[in-house]
Amino acid sequence: MGAVRVPASDLVDVLVAGAGAAGLSLAARLARQTSLRVTVIDPRDGPSDDRTFCFFRGRAHPFEAAIARRYATVEVRDARRVVRASLDTRPYEELPGLAFAELALAQIGASDRVRVRWGVSLRTFVERADRVEVDASDGTHVARILVDARGGRTLTHTAETADEVRWLQHFVGHVVRTERPIFEPSVATLMDFDVSQEDGPHFVYVLPTGPHEALVEDTYFSSARFSRAHYEANLQAWLSTRGARAHEVLRREQGAIPMTTAPQARAASGRVVVIGQRGGAAKASSGYAFQFIQRQCDALTAWLREHGAGRAVAYLPPRSRVATFFDRVMLSYLHDHPTQAPQVFVPLFASVPGDALARFLSEEGTALDHARVMAAVPMAGVLSQALRTTHLWTRSR
Ligand SMILES: Cc1cc2nc3c(=O)[nH]c(=O)nc-3n(C[C@H](O)[C@H](O)[C@H](O)COP(=O)(O)OP(=O)(O)OC[C@H]3O[C@@H](n4cnc5c(N)ncnc54)[C@H](O)[C@@H]3O)c2cc1C
Repeated sequence: MGAVRVPASDLVDVLVAGAGAAGLSLAARLARQTSLRVTVIDPRDGPSDDRTFCFFRGRAHPFEAAIARRYATVEVRDARRVVRASLDTRPYEELPGLAFAELALAQIGASDRVRVRWGVSLRTFVERADRVEVDASDGTHVARILVDARGGRTLTHTAETADEVRWLQHFVGHVVRTERPIFEPSVATLMDFDVSQEDGPHFVYVLPTGPHEALVEDTYFSSARFSRAHYEANLQAWLSTRGARAHEVLRREQGAIPMTTAPQARAASGRVVVIGQRGGAAKASSGYAFQFIQRQCDALTAWLREHGAGRAVAYLPPRSRVATFFDRVMLSYLHDHPTQAPQVFVPLFASVPGDALARFLSEEGTALDHARVMAAVPMAGVLSQALRTTHLWTRSR
């Protein structure tokens, strides 16, 4: 694109590409906390009911009013035992994707400076010294800052090495209604490892909403997805072993979230800021992203409040070096011992108090929480992995 001349009235401060979890989380904050002019674009024709966000309660965020359910008990299990953890201060919270989007859009709608344009997609962009020119499906947009929240895979930069772990957390989930009451509504099953471990870490995730109803997800950590039929056959088998001979599928969801040791991309200049899953928000060792997206959006909003959109944005790393260390060591350990996931996670939940584990997994852990987790994992194996993978976790994030 040649340089585009635009009247000042057409220049926005921030153009957000993507109205998913990250784009809407940021736009809602910018609407309430800044006076910046913001446009959000997204090729869809509106928000969709295609995912459920769950996370341990952590720092406050603007979407708490849409939380549908809180579990004070979570469990992990394998063929031999069931381990339950009580969450007194950090319940496991469920935020339906559509309710989140509707609340975010209501918050955005209260501002006349922030608008969302559905049915518009970003095609390419050119960074200039003081702005970014974006070629979109409805024409050219010019913004001081482009926020790339298009989801999809994590971008990586050149420090990547050949022995990088490049896994996905891939899953198919069904919201089912069973004829017989087989679910315990107050307990979320984070990982049921009582399924084949032949293809790497594999578990069923169960989020009950009643004795007859739950979201049930067949989940793997590995490098490639299977056909939909593969996960669905696993779900069918899991349900029938639990006594649900007849069931109805009310809703389906699926996903493939990056789990990688590769360092996070930094855009060429601070005029383009990458957030959300594409910007490294997904936690490498678990695939959870929602609460880390909230943190990224808090940090970017705080930057823009303080500095405005006139200056290039400083690099805002998605997580601390300590969290990056634990993620890279844990992920490379699982990668090298792919059938050992139950031996890592079940003892972890058995010996670390629930709230401490929730803090650790939310990257809000204390030094004592970290020490408890270290004491609960297969120490010799994890230490040797830490030494073997020094080159993965000592470099730049
Ligand atoms: C089914 C599912 C369940 C999940 N459950 C959890 C969970 O329980 N807990 C958790 O922490 N994380 C969960 N995640 C992971 C993560 O939180 C979500 O993937 C989250 O939606 C990522 O946010 P995002 O904004 O980066 O991407 P998305 O929410 O996917 O949004 C990306 C947006 O960009 C738009 N877009 C694409 N191309 C363009 C373009 N060219 N121009 C403009 N816009 C574009 C898309 O239409 C989309 O709206 C889940 C993911 C999935 C898929």
